[in-house]
Amino acid sequence: MTATIIDGKAVAAELRAEIASRVAALAFQPGLAVVLVGDNPASTVYVRNKDRAAAAAGIAARTIRLPADTAEAALLATIAALNADPAIDGILVQLPLPPQIRPRAVIEAIDPEKDVDGFHPLNVGRLHEGHPHLVPCTPLGVMRLLAHAKVPIRGAQAIVLGRSSIVGKPMAALLINADATVTVAHSRTRNLAAECRRADLVVAAVGRPELVRGDWIADGATVIDVGINRTAEGKLVGDCATAECAASASAITPVPGGVGPMTIACLLANTLTAALARRGLEPA
Ligand code: NAP
Repeated sequence: MTATIIDGKAVAAELRAEIASRVAALAFQPGLAVVLVGDNPASTVYVRNKDRAAAAAGIAARTIRLPADTAEAALLATIAALNADPAIDGILVQLPLPPQIRPRAVIEAIDPEKDVDGFHPLNVGRLHEGHPHLVPCTPLGVMRLLAHAKVPIRGAQAIVLGRSSIVGKPMAALLINADATVTVAHSRTRNLAAECRRADLVVAAVGRPELVRGDWIADGATVIDVGINRTAEGKLVGDCATAECAASASAITPVPGGVGPMTIACLLANTLTAALARRGLEPA
């Protein structure tokens, strides 16, 4: 079987255009605040991309840059001001944070109704109870890709590789809510290859270059590769050996151009969701 390549770039562009047209029809402009502490080069690029994507969708983007030695209390005060600001619908604090700041304290300080990353415990609870409101952007993007590719989820055997709060756990919760039978694997899982072979759907989010090999994939399975890894030669690769896996899979996401572009598009979707919900308007 030769796998269909799921084009995340195209699906993300479609979603962004749809959000832009919905925003253009609103009587107000949604506002997104992105807070960057320090000057981590990767974070700086992410924040710039988020800012541009928001502006292109008609969302008022406000980037707040704070020095690397910012005290936790000062960051919490910035968040409190954004929570109280009626022009701001979404607040995102770019991770990782410098060591003097506890990420949990920051995540818990964000108003859950403005928590466009979906990391606040209230939003985590809503997702796990099956009543999601603001859901972490990367797994939300994966669900949109699966819907676009018409991958059957109800009753499917799914495996999620990775159990982080950002990707693995919310991914598993979304798939459970969509009636899949879900295995969550991690670094202590015995015989990962055999666990994968049982799956109709493999979602890899481990951060290990090309860990998932072709002979781990059942004939006709769908492979979603969340991983973004840079090799010693500077090449960008996923967590799956794409060409090998594509030989057995029916559909697969490439790296780059698969899940990656969906993450920012879903951040915009979450900003619109938050903006509408805060005003008691119907969801987008
Ligand atoms: P993370 O917090 O480092 O979590 C990695 C998870 O993988 C952990 O649960 C870990 O297990 C598990 N793991 C590590 N090595 C393993 C192995 N050999 N076998 C099985 N499980 C293993 O990473 P993350 O934030 O979830 O990100 C995962 C990957 O997705 C990274 O490549 C990251 O760059 C990428 N990512 C992409 C996007 C995007 O927009 N496309 C967004 C976020 C992340 P333990 O829990 O036992 O340690």
